Amino acid sequence: MSYMQISDIRKNFGAFEAVRGIDIDIAKREFVVLLGPSGCGKSTLLRMIAGLEEIDGGALVIDGERMNEVKASKRGISMVFQSYALYPHKSVRQNMEFGLKVAGLSKKEREAKIAEAADILQLTPLLDRMPKELSGGQRQRVAIGRAIVREPKVFLFDEPLSNLDAGLRLQMRVELARLHRQLQATMVYVTHDQVEAMTLADKIVIMRDGLIEQTGAPLEIYRKPANAFVAGFIGSPKMNLLNARVTDVDGPTVRVEAAGMETVVEVDAAPAIGEDVTLGIRPEHLEPVLEPSPGTEPLLDVVACERLGGVSFALSQTADGQQITIQLDGNLPIAAGDQLSCRVQPGLAHLFSAETGRRL
Ligand code: ATP
Repeated sequence: MSYMQISDIRKNFGAFEAVRGIDIDIAKREFVVLLGPSGCGKSTLLRMIAGLEEIDGGALVIDGERMNEVKASKRGISMVFQSYALYPHKSVRQNMEFGLKVAGLSKKEREAKIAEAADILQLTPLLDRMPKELSGGQRQRVAIGRAIVREPKVFLFDEPLSNLDAGLRLQMRVELARLHRQLQATMVYVTHDQVEAMTLADKIVIMRDGLIEQTGAPLEIYRKPANAFVAGFIGSPKMNLLNARVTDVDGPTVRVEAAGMETVVEVDAAPAIGEDVTLGIRPEHLEPVLEPSPGTEPLLDVVACERLGGVSFALSQTADGQQITIQLDGNLPIAAGDQLSCRVQPGLAHLFSAETGRRL
């Protein structure tokens, strides 16, 4: 049985349904990331788990115990906030100690726990500093330290890295992954940053409008997005989604035509010949054809080329006005105004129903 069960959980703000029936099973020691666009309800769901927001419907069970009516402080949960929420007039040590004092631990026990957490988070030399004397990354480590000393059953994180600059975010991401391995803790983490989700999660839950769109391991979602929304949300730059038409069906093998390009896609649920579909191709799964023979390959106009060094992204337009982004080797001298053509690497295209967006 799972360690934590979220069953049909709901939250309304007046007439507005912010969370509309969410089911997630979380195993002990699992790192689960709630990912979705702004306003999809991920923070509200996290706050319901924490006990900071009342649960309007459904059940929350942790380690066999129903938590719906249990007070926040009695749930065995620690939450780390985006804003760190440190006490400004307490030192690092006092910030970490406060919750332990409230819980009635002896001075000796408190000191042992603080020393251990400080060691894990490399905070030992900073224990007597005040929050204002720390960098953003150090403050975030103190906030995490304060969560660790309480030895919670479950750690909750609400966008903990979004106030940090890009370099520090990468470093803290690596530290969080290490912390998860070291503590062997159950963690639920909210973000709208898909790189954090892909790199940290054992399991990603993708939400939209208060509902789950897909739950799965990061690479499972990348390789087999359940619908066009998820396909466009996971992957950077995002997957190309082209209007296409089915020209032939042979069992699970479907031939489609999109923007003058013919492609074969293997599907689970074959559409009908002539049906309108959405063809999904990631920029990294398109192969450029630099000197296309006229008439055989459709030409694309390069509108812009973003050169990142190792790779470039050619933002291009098809003859029928659709946008396609193609990943290129960074050495290719492609620039805006050039023309090129491309081919889909075999077996790497996705097909979605044009009507429902569902994966075919
Ligand atoms: P973000 O990434 O922007 O933080 P989110 O996915 O975490 O977004 P929530 O904060 O969970 O989204 O909010 C979900 C929806 O519920 C939003 O439309 C928000 O405006 C609404 N909402 C959240 N809290 C309240 C509240 N206290 N009263 C009314 N509406 C609220």
